[in-house]
Amino acid sequence: MGVTKIPLLRTYSFYLKNSQGRKVLFDLGARKDLHNLAPSVRHMLDTVEWEVKVDKNVFDILHENGYKGTDFEAIIWSHHHWDHIGDLAPFSSNVDLVVRPRLKDTYLPGHSNEDASPIPESDYSVRRMIKVDFNGPKSLKIGRLNAHDYFGNGSFYVLDTSGHSVGHLSAVVRTSLNPDTFVILGADAIHDTGELRPSQYLPIPEEVNIGHLSNPDQDIFCPDHAVQQFQISRSRKATEPLFNPTAGYNMVNVHSTIQMLQELDWNENFFLIYAHDDSIKGTVDELCAFSEINYRERMIWISFSASNQLED
Ligand SMILES: [Zn+2]
Repeated sequence: MGVTKIPLLRTYSFYLKNSQGRKVLFDLGARKDLHNLAPSVRHMLDTVEWEVKVDKNVFDILHENGYKGTDFEAIIWSHHHWDHIGDLAPFSSNVDLVVRPRLKDTYLPGHSNEDASPIPESDYSVRRMIKVDFNGPKSLKIGRLNAHDYFGNGSFYVLDTSGHSVGHLSAVVRTSLNPDTFVILGADAIHDTGELRPSQYLPIPEEVNIGHLSNPDQDIFCPDHAVQQFQISRSRKATEPLFNPTAGYNMVNVHSTIQMLQELDWNENFFLIYAHDDSIKGTVDELCAFSEINYRERMIWISFSASNQLED
């Protein structure tokens, strides 16, 4: 059961600035010079039939928009995979690299000294590598997930979302105060919102406006019984997500992380996006004001628009 073909997967880097002007980047996407990836990663890419296209590094895009490599205090890696770590070389050595402790313990030294490591030694040797502390004074829980209050003022949290890889992280970005609204940057905790929804906490509504998904002015309503029937025809409960996750280092943790994210996802003050979420292209303004413009309501069932790709 699953999708019949892998769709186009974008990979995003998030530029985050708090009210005091402190700037960080969450993930760096893929680097354009693929020949400089670690030998183990190049070998993996040689064995799969993926078409990889990277026109610009994230640094190039920032540079074109007037930013310098010294403008950021830190780059946070959600995890060590090649499509997230980008190329750190152009960033100032004053820019810290923030990772999960297990990533540092598992993959250092980098591939300049150890062929199996996916991380270039030059990414960390010239800068501070900071391990996120989920037990220190800035730690807290968001739902049942461990969190770290990065700026210490409740504007940005790093989130413990284990499972997809060794030391996988997500993040929670505050988008408004009163009401308190947040965008969850899920990174690779999911690879389709159909791995998250529906859930026992967020069941299928009485009708899903699947017309809205392609055009906000178009109304095509799909009643809940049709969606439920569709789920039942695939031997799934109506309150089960559309898809099972398949990409993970520890699938038990992948499932428990998704469950903990579902416990936040029902709340209309949260909106979850993920690292390869094609639906968010060009919607940064809408994401920041999602509670004001019914963005969540419009986009939350986007996976149903892909239902014609499903097979039993
Ligand atoms: Zn990825």
